[in-house]
Amino acid sequence: MNLPSDQQAQALDESLLHAQRLKSLWKLVTQRDLREDQRFHAMLRLASQAMNMELAVLGEFSSLYTLRYVYDTLNLAEEGAVLSIEDTLCQHVQQSREPLFVEDLRQHPLFQSHHLVVQAGLYVYAGIPVWAGEEVQAVLAFMRREPLRGGFNEADIAYMELVAGWMGYHLSQSQQRQLLEKYAMTDQLTGMLNRRAAESRLEQEMARAKRHGEGFALAMLDLDFFKAVNDRYGHAVGDAVLRAVAQRILAGLREDDWVARWGGEEFLVFLRSADVREAVFVIERLSAGVKQAPIATTAGDIRMTLSAGIGMPDKADFDFRLAVEVADACLYQAKANGRDRVEARGGAGVLWPAQVIKRALQDGQVVMATQVIVDLASGRTVADEALARVRLPDGSLLAAGEFIEAAEGLGLMPQIDRIVSRLSMARCADNLRGGGVGQEFAHFVNLSPQFLARRDLVEEMLGNAMNFCQTCGVEFGPVKPVVFEITERQFLRNLDTLEADLKPLLDFGFRLALDDFGSGYSSFLYLARLPISFLKIEGWLVANIRKERKIAAIVESLAGFARREGIITIAECIEDAETARILRDMGVDQGQGWYFGRPEVELDC
Ligand code: GH3
Ligand code: MG
Ligand code: MG
Repeated sequence: MNLPSDQQAQALDESLLHAQRLKSLWKLVTQRDLREDQRFHAMLRLASQAMNMELAVLGEFSSLYTLRYVYDTLNLAEEGAVLSIEDTLCQHVQQSREPLFVEDLRQHPLFQSHHLVVQAGLYVYAGIPVWAGEEVQAVLAFMRREPLRGGFNEADIAYMELVAGWMGYHLSQSQQRQLLEKYAMTDQLTGMLNRRAAESRLEQEMARAKRHGEGFALAMLDLDFFKAVNDRYGHAVGDAVLRAVAQRILAGLREDDWVARWGGEEFLVFLRSADVREAVFVIERLSAGVKQAPIATTAGDIRMTLSAGIGMPDKADFDFRLAVEVADACLYQAKANGRDRVEARGGAGVLWPAQVIKRALQDGQVVMATQVIVDLASGRTVADEALARVRLPDGSLLAAGEFIEAAEGLGLMPQIDRIVSRLSMARCADNLRGGGVGQEFAHFVNLSPQFLARRDLVEEMLGNAMNFCQTCGVEFGPVKPVVFEITERQFLRNLDTLEADLKPLLDFGFRLALDDFGSGYSSFLYLARLPISFLKIEGWLVANIRKERKIAAIVESLAGFARREGIITIAECIEDAETARILRDMGVDQGQGWYFGRPEVELDC
């Protein structure tokens, strides 16, 4: 058997060594549970040791050079340090995009006078470009102070290039991840943080505020009458206005504060360590920045104002959601108080209508009261009206007038109507089943336009109605004993849409009452266009019937008109016998009001 020659033995050693270091590298790059920094540090250490090097650096190039990761046994390089590119040994690799291996730096014209060679005494250098996609994003460099015995062989070079290749792979992976994260956290229109990002940031701010005992304020900003911009000039101009407003808000922020696009044209501003007064001051300045000059758009100059609400976190539970809720409630107040203004509230304090309603909806504390409707000629109770009430934690009740406007502003009417209509139908079915009243007894329920526009809710209600009809054991004709009251409280809706929204209900056999007639809300247009069965004469007319001859004449002619049209009239807010009598003599059919009975809440609802 031939013993291997020295040369052969050395080659065998080298290939074993090479196989060994490849195996270790493979293990490291495929290890799953490493953070990015751990993986890079481990790779640098492993490769340095495998290559007999004393210093290894992964340096990133942009307009400057950053020592991103360092393995240093010489105490020469500080991880995270930023240098100008001309100061680096690696600039040549980055520029040529080719690897460079220098066995004696002192002999090399590019390096011999570099301070790392002259002063720090570096002797050997290997630099390999690290590609992330099409770009040389970094250079992996190995250095040592002593000459390298035998120089770099092919296996060494292949190994270092492999390490650089893997580093490039991991760098571009993490870059892509960061890009995706950024994308998911950014609002595409304004470039601001989006709501998701803001919520997670608020969690962090909350924890931080708790740790440092530091306060903050949250402001909710909403553009005034922004819908009109869209309606008048189209969405593209609306978008441009939103972008411009976002820019103005960003430009006016204090250094440590931040802003996010919370919803459509709503922005949340985080104000670090601000008390209420300071927060109001900052937000008023932001608001002034938005309105100070018109916004130039393709449709011409547009002036915008905004309203804002400010909430402070509650020290006791430090939940940012409460502060958001308070800011929201204050924003609603700012809108209600005329817009283009800032409202603020510190601490938990007294609950505002917005919070009260939201909580009541969550806790099942929206309940129904009923008020009787009486036939004026016979004095018999012929119907009743279901009215929403909010039950407060102390058991007292809020009347509709105290929360309906807020609920409309907050878009909560559909939920309220859903609850009350269901309760009312259940009551109707109970009454019929018990035989207390016949099916000619009508149950009036108020429905908001927002509810009617919600197809899902209307369908759900019809489904409920069918169930109730089947279970109450009464054979119905085409007319059902439920009447829906509609009013035109908020805006003159497109009547075609309203008719379409009402159709399934009318088809089912529900009838319609036009509410608040004479209040300025309900218009003759509704009366003319919609198949109205009942006309409810508003309380203001009723209250003044004895004082003003003209009002009496109006009511009388309304009653006459309704009778000719087969519409039943109901006078609201009758408070005394004399008024009831006068109305009856004028030909008004039915009446409602304290004289006949106040709204009452059944205990079990
Ligand atoms: P208010 O003063 O009560 O706030 O009145 P408003 O007209 O601003 O009404 P509201 O806040 O209820 O409506 C906001 C409108 O913003 C409704 C929606 O169509 C519009 N909007 C929401 N997001 C965008 C968007 O990204 N681009 C555009 N162009 N419009 C949007
Ligand atoms: Mg708005
Ligand atoms: Mg809005």
